Amino acid sequence: MKNTQTDALVIGTGPVGLFQVFQLGLQGIHAHVVDVLDQPGGQCIELYPDKPIYDIPGLPYSTGRELTQRLLQQVAPFKPTFHFNQQVSQISHQDDGRWLVTTPNQQFSTRTLFIAAGVGAFVPKELKVDGLAAFTGTQLFYRLTSPELLAGQHVVVVGGEDTAIQNTIALTSGPQQASSVTLVHRRDVLHASPDALAQFAELRANGLIQFVAGQITGIQTSGDRLSGVEVNTPEDQTLNLPLDALLVCQGISPKLGPIAQWGLAMERKQLTVDPATLATSAPGIYAVGDVNSYPGKKKLILCGFHEATLAAYAAASYIDPQASGVLQYTTSSALLQQRLGVQSNAASATSD
Ligand SMILES: Cc1cc2nc3c(=O)[nH]c(=O)nc-3n(C[C@H](O)[C@H](O)[C@H](O)COP(=O)(O)OP(=O)(O)OC[C@H]3O[C@@H](n4cnc5c(N)ncnc54)[C@H](O)[C@@H]3O)c2cc1C
Repeated sequence: MKNTQTDALVIGTGPVGLFQVFQLGLQGIHAHVVDVLDQPGGQCIELYPDKPIYDIPGLPYSTGRELTQRLLQQVAPFKPTFHFNQQVSQISHQDDGRWLVTTPNQQFSTRTLFIAAGVGAFVPKELKVDGLAAFTGTQLFYRLTSPELLAGQHVVVVGGEDTAIQNTIALTSGPQQASSVTLVHRRDVLHASPDALAQFAELRANGLIQFVAGQITGIQTSGDRLSGVEVNTPEDQTLNLPLDALLVCQGISPKLGPIAQWGLAMERKQLTVDPATLATSAPGIYAVGDVNSYPGKKKLILCGFHEATLAAYAAASYIDPQASGVLQYTTSSALLQQRLGVQSNAASATSD
């Protein structure tokens, strides 16, 4: 298994994890960043990409998606190394004082660890039907990560919101075009952007998408293959839908998951931290954002940004106890501007 040595590893690419990367960069510390999802943004992207946020200082209005894009732009000078689709499952303390952090794909040996895991890892809501789980990864999918796998197949998509509708539309054309696409949702009311709903309605009217209202209650098999699903309709009829592949898009829910087993002090499912440094009960491990708890904690993005700043200062002196820890302004510090890769205006700033 690949082992990466680093000074800092951030778990979570939500807004706070991203800003942690920025603050570490200002301290001259390069970060690796891991997320179980396939894209950055955490709750901002998964739960409210197009909804407005009004309380980010200096940004009177942005959507979850815009805020994520701006944060990515802000961290770019520090060239963080992102690792997506990987859930951190285990951590252990090594004899040399570093932390060994394990994901299914690789290990990191890191001097400092920043847990910015929010409300936990977002995992797809499962479709609970007897016998179905056995087909996970072969005929049952929860994400359309490799759409070409479904090309030429009879696909049933389950769900009634954005992701289900976008995936259904995506399977009607291009290299991933399926033989047939049927969307199953418990009722004939779908929630998505007006554009997506209009496109869906047109494809449905042209017979390129079938729609069935109802709930999947059973499966049909042929040998060791999943050959169909049974759908119970609102009229209490049972329909049999033959299929090659089932794509379930019923949304996602957060699971704190393995973090609770890492032996760190916790209080009501949050990691207890010192609010001055954001240090957890383990040396070199900091917790920032929604995942932590301290007196007066507020689960707001701007509070997470403040925490990330303090944690970066604390980590810099943990990594190098000789470091001055002196506060520097990006406006006037030649060092910080050099790290940011911008033309230094430090001389004029100090002489003014
Ligand atoms: C509908 C809604 C509206 C909101 N509006 C506002 C608002 O207007 N203003 C405001 O300040 N706040 C708002 N919030 C709250 C805000 O979104 C959160 O405070 C913020 O997202 C917390 O950021 P975070 O980086 O700590 O965690 P998150 O955004 O939750 O990101 C955590 C990331 O960590 C990943 N992760 C977790 N565990 C692991 C693991 N073991 N391995 C790998 N990856 C892992 C997750 O996949 C996720 O991507 C809103 C929240 C919701 C739900």
